[in-house]
Amino acid sequence: MRLPLACEPDRTCFVQHYVDHDTSQGARDYTCGSRTYDKHDGTDFRVATRALAARESGMVLAAAAGHVLRTRNDVPDVLLNEAGRAAVAGRECGNGIVVAHADGYETQYCHLAQGSVRVVPGERVTAGQPIGQVGLSGATEFPHLHFTLRHEGKVIDPFSPALAPGECRIDAEALDGLWEKPIQAALAYKAGAVLSAGFADGPVTRADVEMEATRAIDPTSKAMVAFVSVIGLDAGDVQRLTLTRPDGRVLAENRAPPLVRSRAESLLFTGIKRPPDGWPSGTYTATFQVLRAGAVAVERVLTTTMPPPAR
Ligand SMILES: [Zn+2]
Repeated sequence: MRLPLACEPDRTCFVQHYVDHDTSQGARDYTCGSRTYDKHDGTDFRVATRALAARESGMVLAAAAGHVLRTRNDVPDVLLNEAGRAAVAGRECGNGIVVAHADGYETQYCHLAQGSVRVVPGERVTAGQPIGQVGLSGATEFPHLHFTLRHEGKVIDPFSPALAPGECRIDAEALDGLWEKPIQAALAYKAGAVLSAGFADGPVTRADVEMEATRAIDPTSKAMVAFVSVIGLDAGDVQRLTLTRPDGRVLAENRAPPLVRSRAESLLFTGIKRPPDGWPSGTYTATFQVLRAGAVAVERVLTTTMPPPAR
């Protein structure tokens, strides 16, 4: 299968949740890890920001050739935590498409933007054909494509089709998935991933990050803030974000306490107010690390250059 989104894996999109391989009330992904939740029957491909989801990165593509069985296109785009569960009851998939393929396979695409579905039942689609756009319809709290693969009505995890129901394997990465080879490599199971990161001139909210609405810094900025949005954290993980000035001195550090339980996403920031005599010009560096079992599991280093003040 092809990647069902026109995004760049690990840069503009990430796997947020895999299929749940635990048949009881617990949840385990195909590697026996925590990147799923109870009864999750598909793969969630998250687009890094809402702004990106509305552009090419959020274009939904048919994973393989087939013909369209069903579509829905009239569900409003709302965030679940604002609208509530009742508002999406019976329409958890939101705007969606079901495509039938050869040999009893079906793919389903959920949470598309209202009015974005481009195909109708009965229509033939080719592999990679654009069929809709990622939105926020149905039971969703972030822009993503929920993608389900079924064979004769039974859910198949495209990352580990050979595993029996209820089975997971720590070395499952070695198993052959159903993705095209380059995609398989790009989607290799990760310890966690940085969704987005940057510098801003003041406090940062999740909405700012999602809409790419943070303001860049310049010599007049009253504050300097570094932020990192990260997904796929485990219990025990320690996140650390350090901001250093051009001479290497640490300006600010945010070291979060070890996580009590696994966490799907987190927004961390650190920063300082403008010094009384202004910002020294030069390169400022923010270093983000996730420490897991004493080792660095995720790292991102970003820099920004402060020009000299205008005369
Ligand atoms: Zn999902």
